[in-house]
Amino acid sequence: MQTALSIAGSDPTGGAGLQSDLQVFRSFGLHGAGVITALTIQDSERVHQSLPVFPSVVLDQLRILLRDQRPAALKLGMLATDDVTRQVALGLELLEGSVPVVIDPILEASDGTVLLERRAWGSLCELIEGCALVTPNLHEAESLSGCDTSTRAGAERAARYFLGELGAKAVLVKGGHREADSDDLLALRDDDGIQLEWLEGERIDSGPVHGTGCALSAAITAGLALDQPLRQAVVEARAFVARGLRNARPFGSGAHFLVYP
Ligand code: PLP
Repeated sequence: MQTALSIAGSDPTGGAGLQSDLQVFRSFGLHGAGVITALTIQDSERVHQSLPVFPSVVLDQLRILLRDQRPAALKLGMLATDDVTRQVALGLELLEGSVPVVIDPILEASDGTVLLERRAWGSLCELIEGCALVTPNLHEAESLSGCDTSTRAGAERAARYFLGELGAKAVLVKGGHREADSDDLLALRDDDGIQLEWLEGERIDSGPVHGTGCALSAAITAGLALDQPLRQAVVEARAFVARGLRNARPFGSGAHFLVYP
């Protein structure tokens, strides 16, 4: 059994963050390992508070874990602060060989709570160099690239920025927040340069759902841990999340959570 690792924030509701990532990994038949970067206090309505883990403790978790286990792939979720982001970068230097890294550049929760402080954006961008995939939504793509992502041409400019300027091997600009359609843009670097592909999105009306972005990046990470080529991992992960959305249920009084039957 392969291990997938999530380096992410704790969400006690189990709807997002590390707790949700571990459920996704298990759905793919993987062992899930987890390093906590931040505690959040939240319910299905909103994030009440966010508390970063002491930065050196984040690095210690990674140091001791990676000495003992070798993940087949890993994802980064909520990183909370600049200090935590830098310690994660140091921890990743301890990885031996090439381990695919998926970065979900989480800046804010849907309720507007800041999950990564503004001054950490530079450190996050440095982490993106060489990663297998970065999965910004339209707001994150716009914030980090400075490109207006309200049009398809703008989203394509942002995708080129993630590959050309920040050095990611691939980027998935998620279109879920677009009004006209919810197509995602996948941009990959290969021998012929940058290839752009629009992946048609299906709008699934399940009301407000919590943790969709976390589940998607975890499912892609799982695919990579299972040695799938990147495009296949992305396509299968999108289908996995769509199934989860169709089965989404309320577990509390607020947003629904994905369910994987
Ligand atoms: N809490 C944690 C720990 C998260 O990682 C995320 C997702 O990015 C959220 C909360 C917010 O999730 P959502 O915006 O889907 O409600």
